[in-house]
Amino acid sequence: MKIDLRSDTVTKPTKEMLDAIVNAEVGDDVYKEDPSVNKLEERIAAMFGKEKALFFPSGSMANQAAIKLHTQPGEQLIADQYAHVYNYEGGGVSFNSGVSCKLIEGYRGMITAAQVEASINPPDFYHSPLTSLVCIENTTNKGGGACYDFEEIKKMRKVCDDHGLGYHLDGARLWNALIAKKENAKQYGEVFDTISVCLSKGLGAPLGSVLIGNSNIMENAIRIRKVLGGGMRQIGFMAAAGLYAIENHIDRLKDDHTRAKEIGQVLNTLPFVTGVEPIDTNIIIFTIQGDEQEFVNEMESKGVYFYGMGQGKLRFVTHLDYTQEQHEYFLELLVSHHTKKTVQSI
Ligand SMILES: *Cc1c(COP(=O)(O)O)cnc(C)c1O
Repeated sequence: MKIDLRSDTVTKPTKEMLDAIVNAEVGDDVYKEDPSVNKLEERIAAMFGKEKALFFPSGSMANQAAIKLHTQPGEQLIADQYAHVYNYEGGGVSFNSGVSCKLIEGYRGMITAAQVEASINPPDFYHSPLTSLVCIENTTNKGGGACYDFEEIKKMRKVCDDHGLGYHLDGARLWNALIAKKENAKQYGEVFDTISVCLSKGLGAPLGSVLIGNSNIMENAIRIRKVLGGGMRQIGFMAAAGLYAIENHIDRLKDDHTRAKEIGQVLNTLPFVTGVEPIDTNIIIFTIQGDEQEFVNEMESKGVYFYGMGQGKLRFVTHLDYTQEQHEYFLELLVSHHTKKTVQSI
């Protein structure tokens, strides 16, 4: 049995999703003539109570477009030090927008309104870059799937209003937060200027992200997407996968969360595990005694794939293609690994 816990991006379309793809009605989306893309964009805009949504090939491109919409070259955005936009988008913040990042040391990838306020450069102090955008992530990726307290998100909105800053949510895994915290998309739509959401993580579509915002800010989004090379033709095939995903794969995220918590419970009983970070959603970050790479290699020889994250941290991510059968096998494997270790150490 092969069990892939590297990321929730490894999923492949289900039979039903493939049917939706094959049966999609398509057109040229660069001319905005693809009915499936138009439907997806309308549906997602409505879910968030915003006027506009635009389909992107990747979450990175959606975030990069949002940053470009909110900033001018030379300006600065505020983000957590773990932020995807800073760490995992190839330096796009500076490459695409000529913007620098003021990084905040948050808790599990989450920052506070007070930290944001303290990080804003005074606009009349012309020696510093002009702060123009706050960018937060929910759930956090490098922070281990942590979910924000919505009250803190609202407090940051107030700070942005007080200082005339844009407010962008990197919501690649916002769906997981909505399920874990019993929140809804509209409350996010009310607070943020722009939101990016991924269809290709927990929701299991092969590709696609959507950027959401009101008409004023989104007016230029299609041009920026074109500049970034993201204008796509008969991409309704993938929009159909996305539509299928939002209709059928959101509620089931709770199963991924349950399994993640159960893995955490087992890890906590294993003597070679030295720490397990809190598990809010589908990401498990933990540390072990001894050589991590050895553990990774050994599990790989048993068919279980996952990554080390550096700094001694290891990560499992549960997802649509991680089945109950795999889950039961994997939990047993973890326990037997521990038994073997104990025997060896005697
Ligand atoms: C995955 C992810 C993205 C987008 O990644 P792509 O691979 O470009 O689709 C953005 N932000 C976060 C937090 C992510 O986890």
